[in-house]
Amino acid sequence: MLAALRADTAVATMTGIGPKRAAALAERGIETAADLVFHLPARYQDWRIRTAMPALKPGMSVVVEGDLSAITERPMPGARWRRLATGWLSAKQKRIRLVWFNLPSYMRGYIPGGERVLACGRVSLAPGGGLEIVHPEIHALAAGDPRPIRPVYRLPAIVGQRLFVNLVALALEQLGPAIHGALPDDLRQPDLSGRAPIQSDLTKDDRGPDVLPIHDALSYLHNPPANADLDALKSATSSAHRALAFDELFAFELALAIERKRAARRAGIALGGAGKLTERLLMDAPFKLTGAQLRAIDEVGTDLAGHSQMNRMLMGDVGSGKTIVAFWAAIRAIECGHQAVMMAPTELLAEQHQRSFTRLCGRLGIPSALLTGKVTGPPRAQLLRGLALGAIGMVFGTQALIQEAVRVRSLGLGIIDEQHRFGVFDRARLKALGPQANVLMMTATPIPRSLAMSLFANLDVSFLDEMPPGRTPIATEIVSEDDLECVHEVVRQELAAGRRAYYILPLIESDETEDEEDLRSVIAMAERLSAGALKGFKVGLLHGRMRSAEKDRVMREFRDGAIDALVSTTVVEVGIDVPEATVMVVIAAERYGLAQLHQLRGRVGRGEWASRCCLVASRGADAQALERLDIMAASTSGAAVAEMDLRLRGPGDLLGARQTGALPLRFVHFVRDHQTVERARAMAERWLQRDPGLDSPASAGARIALRRMLSLGFSLGDVA
Ligand code: ADP
Ligand code: MG
Repeated sequence: MLAALRADTAVATMTGIGPKRAAALAERGIETAADLVFHLPARYQDWRIRTAMPALKPGMSVVVEGDLSAITERPMPGARWRRLATGWLSAKQKRIRLVWFNLPSYMRGYIPGGERVLACGRVSLAPGGGLEIVHPEIHALAAGDPRPIRPVYRLPAIVGQRLFVNLVALALEQLGPAIHGALPDDLRQPDLSGRAPIQSDLTKDDRGPDVLPIHDALSYLHNPPANADLDALKSATSSAHRALAFDELFAFELALAIERKRAARRAGIALGGAGKLTERLLMDAPFKLTGAQLRAIDEVGTDLAGHSQMNRMLMGDVGSGKTIVAFWAAIRAIECGHQAVMMAPTELLAEQHQRSFTRLCGRLGIPSALLTGKVTGPPRAQLLRGLALGAIGMVFGTQALIQEAVRVRSLGLGIIDEQHRFGVFDRARLKALGPQANVLMMTATPIPRSLAMSLFANLDVSFLDEMPPGRTPIATEIVSEDDLECVHEVVRQELAAGRRAYYILPLIESDETEDEEDLRSVIAMAERLSAGALKGFKVGLLHGRMRSAEKDRVMREFRDGAIDALVSTTVVEVGIDVPEATVMVVIAAERYGLAQLHQLRGRVGRGEWASRCCLVASRGADAQALERLDIMAASTSGAAVAEMDLRLRGPGDLLGARQTGALPLRFVHFVRDHQTVERARAMAERWLQRDPGLDSPASAGARIALRRMLSLGFSLGDVA
């Protein structure tokens, strides 16, 4: 007998796991006993309900009881490595054929014939008539009743389900309560943890929702009881799923809160005083700033004046006017004798920022520069020298800014536009340009304010929740695919009046065999438009397979009017300002999320002309998808759309790969409502007030969870 398992025991040392299986599991991130228990079933088989033999019909997924005949095996013609195994299951004078292409190993050897078994699988029509089940799971009733609900795991081919189930069971049993959650026991409902809360100073609000202990949640998911709600298991909404997600969120929010405190102590260059240049910027601005912009400037100004580093996120819908707020902060840094950099994800955006800077701040006499991959040779050397010497106050650029050769004499402020498009390391490298630099990040990701406060709890957040006045509202209409000609007609009229239009499609190239899809591909649509509906106008093409220099060129031509209609995938630049663009056509609009549609819609309506957004619904779109499009047509603010999007999809998507990059969050996609995120944050903050150093015994689990996050490279402080 091997020594008892510990959370960090290597799977490779467990019975049944040789080097090959260990390697295959490691490839999926399963290396320790703890990894085993956190590898949740991908789906479940319900063995509780049995279908009677006479009721079987093709297409049904069933568990059926009967006598299993002897099984015969023979080589398959044309595929010698496979052996076709067949047998019969019979009951009530009826029988059904069972077929395997290669008998699973658990079936080998036993098969005596005549045994009473359950077979689970999908009924289909056998080639020669009659019914069959291909690859049924067999359970011999001599071994007692099967597990009521059987988990099915996603595993490498060489690791069988049964082997894995046994490993998990062993790990669950031996690790027991050693599988810690982050949430301290006192924060669970007393009736669930089975004892009274230790601390009587906790109010009811301090305690969680009904959060199961992690070990119970895991046991439930790996081995659901007979009365489990299968729908809740399948849709990942069971209380066990929620407990895992909540626990993870609690640890996440703890990490954020700790990081926020740490950052507040980090020294930053203080940029204070009533500066002449910032004053002039506001006085000379060609427009009156919105209340939200002034508020944001105020918040940024207070941060900058302090002696700790600013870490602020500026959130605002596309077009809400984030740029001038960023410029104000940059100029504050410059008038205090320091420098500022502004990094954007594409050359085009960086260029646009520099142009706006010239337009809005040109009279202030601040030397600015643009550093992109295109700047090479002597101009580059000269630019780098200017930065290193401090002669250039303001520099705009792409990732080129964070390459090795770049030195900034005294960086007072780093600005990151469209921050979500940069990775953690990019942000860290920008900060490394100036160890005491203040940081301003900007994003137009539509997230409701309360959720943003929880997601970015390590940062201070300013919101631009007010649009500059005088914007022409964008009329949104939903059009059927069959009426596409009417849409083209609208576009034609706009182009004839000197305006521009976008067509957004989901595919780059269509599969020639599928005629339907032909309407959804950028290449086919561009050809069709320039030969037909938009004949005589210049139609441009943009998609992700083009090289970035090429994409830039096309975007530039569109901006400058050399292209009238741009047919593109969603790669079309988010931050780009083309005031003449007045029509946005989204083909197969039902395929996109609401937030994404809203961002696309924000490409138009930036000039003085009335704009419209045509959401073209495919013929096959279902009622639910159409309902979502109706929501788009009815709501104009990003906040409202974001709220609806969350309600429909849950914040899991937002928190997932795209938004948070490499965050070590495994279960957060089980969260369907953002109140949960906010509750986790409130509890984390309250817990930190009670145990700031997390050194009480009750915080043991939290400490472990935090260490795990940190070990996975998680630092939202992005410390260089
Ligand atoms: P975003 O928040 O999407 O980055 P921008 O800063 O690019 O938005 O602003 C969009 C447009 O609105 C720009 O042309 C900008 O000059 C203009 N703008 C910004 N603030 C105001 C305002 N208060 N009143 C009028 N126009 C404004
Ligand atoms: Mg912008």
